Amino acid sequence: MGSPERSIFAPASWQHSSTFAPDMSQPNEDRLKTLIGHAKEYGFVFPSSEIYDGLSATYDYGPCGVELKNNIRQYWWAAMVRLNEEIVGIDAAIFMHPTTWMASGHVDAFNDPLIDNKDSKKRYRADVLLEEHIAKYDQKIAKEVEKGRKKFGDAFDEAQYRATNPNVKRSQDRIDAVEARMKAALDSNDLVALRQLILDEGITCPVSGTANWTDVRQFNLMFATELGSVSGESSTIYLRPETAQGIFVNFLNVQKSARQKLPFGIAQSGKAFRNEIVARQFIFRMREFEQMEMQYFVKPGTEMQWYAHWKEKRMAWHRALGLPTDHYRFHDHIKLAHYANAACDIEFQFPMGFKELEGIHSRTDFDLGNHEKHSGKKLRFFDPETNESFVPYVVETSIGLDRMFLAILSAAHQVEKLEDGSEREVLRIPAPLAPVKLAVLPLVKKDGLPEKARTIIDGLKLEHNCQYDEKDSIGRRYRRQDAIGTPYAITVDHQSVQDDTVTIRDRDTMRQERVPIGELGRILSDKVDMRKLLKQL
Ligand code: ATP
Repeated sequence: MGSPERSIFAPASWQHSSTFAPDMSQPNEDRLKTLIGHAKEYGFVFPSSEIYDGLSATYDYGPCGVELKNNIRQYWWAAMVRLNEEIVGIDAAIFMHPTTWMASGHVDAFNDPLIDNKDSKKRYRADVLLEEHIAKYDQKIAKEVEKGRKKFGDAFDEAQYRATNPNVKRSQDRIDAVEARMKAALDSNDLVALRQLILDEGITCPVSGTANWTDVRQFNLMFATELGSVSGESSTIYLRPETAQGIFVNFLNVQKSARQKLPFGIAQSGKAFRNEIVARQFIFRMREFEQMEMQYFVKPGTEMQWYAHWKEKRMAWHRALGLPTDHYRFHDHIKLAHYANAACDIEFQFPMGFKELEGIHSRTDFDLGNHEKHSGKKLRFFDPETNESFVPYVVETSIGLDRMFLAILSAAHQVEKLEDGSEREVLRIPAPLAPVKLAVLPLVKKDGLPEKARTIIDGLKLEHNCQYDEKDSIGRRYRRQDAIGTPYAITVDHQSVQDDTVTIRDRDTMRQERVPIGELGRILSDKVDMRKLLKQL
């Protein structure tokens, strides 16, 4: 027996590699389009209410998508809650008392500065236009540095090159100047200055190509709705724009019931809603999305130490996945949010460039302090050692589950040329997160092979998500499993019925070997067990 692939081995460059090299050959927009098409065809992500032509910036997760999403959430939850005894979880309601959003500052300050191009009638976030403009200078610098690296080889000193090369310095000076003006304008809420900066930098609309801009206006991102059905008794409530406030208002409930001392953390994952102005770029920016947040309550004065600690811990969580290391970078916030005294993002190289994937913020006592004021209830920690009671400071880590999904999908997706000239589309999803862990494929639909295949699945399905497939040639069935990122596929053939062995095929190397059925559980666990990731943390 065998498949047309038996003799095909992976190219040496990635044959034994546990890292991933996404297909960067396509232009950015095409790569995103390819991903969107792939995600739909293989049941990862569908446009919401598609039969009615969809609803902008809203997506549904399909059979493979929901598995991947659940696995990412599980990896995050285990890393944050299970591995840290001082972190506990909650699941708060989406609706909260309206005063919550007065206290948190969202009613007054959860705004985006928006600007319209009068010719194309397209709307943009003014700060995003400027950030994308700055990114162009960043790209120029990266190209110069690459040139230097090629020229000087092993003797290349990047720090010195950046400090002395005139082209790099010129671009860096431009970045510093634009960032300084942008920060000043945002800090003082000077929308006229923000518009002037866009004009001075000659930023044009990507659609019309003109700089015919309107004034900049502020736009609140919260969705409002009415609570109560009796006329006159209703009041405005909001769909939560972040999960964090459900944690802050429960601070004392959790601290007391879980008997926690400082420092301790509360973790939560769930839906958040934002009326995004510019909702593009697939699941990167949606109006309904999921966050995974952890608020860490610390003694005032120690927050910078914990901020550094969580920056490092969160980056380690990302790195354990084995996606390309140069796809991550830290980016300090240019403008600190109203609640923060330090903040940075972990940025990821998405198909549309480096963008925020996760935020790490030192939020001071802003939230608890304001909830105290607005509720009239004390939200303090009593320290028995010093006999003091105080409002704790907070360091938070906040990652978008959907953005993490897109990060994995985009880094995992590859189109590979095989030695026989054909192509295969493969998702090299980190094995513990793969939607399906094992495909079980009877060579033919008779002679007891389907029954044998079902028995194998029955023996493994309590631990692993397995998929049965008997349609089409074995080669096509392998392709379908490659396309959804299944780490292993086994073929059940006539020999299997006689001696209880099967051929197992590895997604990444496409190598096949014959193994006893009794060994499958161990082989699978070695590769797909979530513990493999968690042990690295
Ligand atoms: P951005 O600057 O991209 O609008 P943000 O700084 O407003 O993001 P935060 O308020 O820090 O985002 O939210 C924490 C995380 O939630 C982000 O790092 C991101 O992963 C995710 N997130 C925020 N807004 C969206 C959205 N509209 N769609 C999907 N994920 C989002």
